[in-house]
Amino acid sequence: MPTSIVTGGAGFLGSHLCERLLAEGHRVVCVDNLATGTLQNIAHLRDARFEFCQHDIIEHLEITGPVDYVFHLASPASPIDYLRLPLQTLKVGSYGTHNALGLAKKHRARFLLASTSEVYGDPKVHPQTEDYWGHVNPIGPRGVYDEAKRYAEALTMAYHRQQGVDTHIVRIFNTYGPRMRPHDGRAIPTFLRQALEDTPITVFGDGGQTRSFCYVSDLIEGFLRLIESDYHLPVNIGNPGEYTILQLAEAVIAATGSRSEIVYEALPQDDPMVRQPDISLARELLGWEPTIGLAEGLQHTIASLR
Ligand code: NAD
Ligand code: UDP
Repeated sequence: MPTSIVTGGAGFLGSHLCERLLAEGHRVVCVDNLATGTLQNIAHLRDARFEFCQHDIIEHLEITGPVDYVFHLASPASPIDYLRLPLQTLKVGSYGTHNALGLAKKHRARFLLASTSEVYGDPKVHPQTEDYWGHVNPIGPRGVYDEAKRYAEALTMAYHRQQGVDTHIVRIFNTYGPRMRPHDGRAIPTFLRQALEDTPITVFGDGGQTRSFCYVSDLIEGFLRLIESDYHLPVNIGNPGEYTILQLAEAVIAATGSRSEIVYEALPQDDPMVRQPDISLARELLGWEPTIGLAEGLQHTIASLR
């Protein structure tokens, strides 16, 4: 039975990954310090093959017995979380990634880094291809997250090139689904909470900025295909369906039948104006593409909230 370590396994994406790995027959060790994740996210994973280890991955981690896969997802991910936890975000991207890579090296395990479309910053190339180096403000408020992930990518490539570790890097574009925290501040859980409560939907700026939203099960499928591949450079995984934030607010109102009105609030500093993955590489390398569109994904998410 293969053993997988999932750092950040008690978070939104991590809990879906743990669930999928168990379904694939893996033994799963979920390593999480519960900074932004919860035990509730993994409460349904009661299985003799599942183990929770409360641990801060910025500290050294010993795992006894064989390890076949290390999925490194630990990091605050929502802007309100990484703005509240700037040093923790930098440390988990640096020391945390170092420890996760060291674990993979020691056990000769395959390694996957959860990187982000934020490495492209406020992009000047649209849609974003993996060969674009990005447009990031390193000293702005979002820099703690963007630069932590850019460093984590550099460290991962160095472990691959110098130490021969079997590493993989996924650049995740905005992903949503069940188990996002209603108050985590990201657009979809915020809009859904506001719509279901019939309270005003808070669109930042004029709502003309765009994002491309991927449903969680599609993303997890991409993770599993990528970690089994022999490709080591970063790969975009996301849904190319691009929406303005105003269109997203309208889609949420329609999906919930809400009476909420839309209100406009200040645009946060350095908020990227556009974002859309070019997924040609994932299609070609992994035969991967998303299968769930925004309307369907919103319905699954709403059903889980109700
Ligand atoms: P999340 O906040 O729900 O999950 C992150 C998990 O990491 C939490 O359970 C948290 O407690 C844990 N964690 C944080 N610091 C830790 C540490 N030092 N030691 C151990 N555990 C720690 O966020 P998510 O949306 O599930 O994101 C998971 C990963 O995917 C993150 O690395 C994030 O940067 C990346 N990502 C997510 C998205 C998205 O749209 N959801 C987009 C791009 C990248
Ligand atoms: N956003 C918004 N209202 C909210 C939360 C977010 O208008 O209540 C906007 C935010 O300014 C950004 C987009 O929605 O332009 C996506 O934000 P999110 O935090 O989900 O992700 P990220 O900015 O990291 O892509």
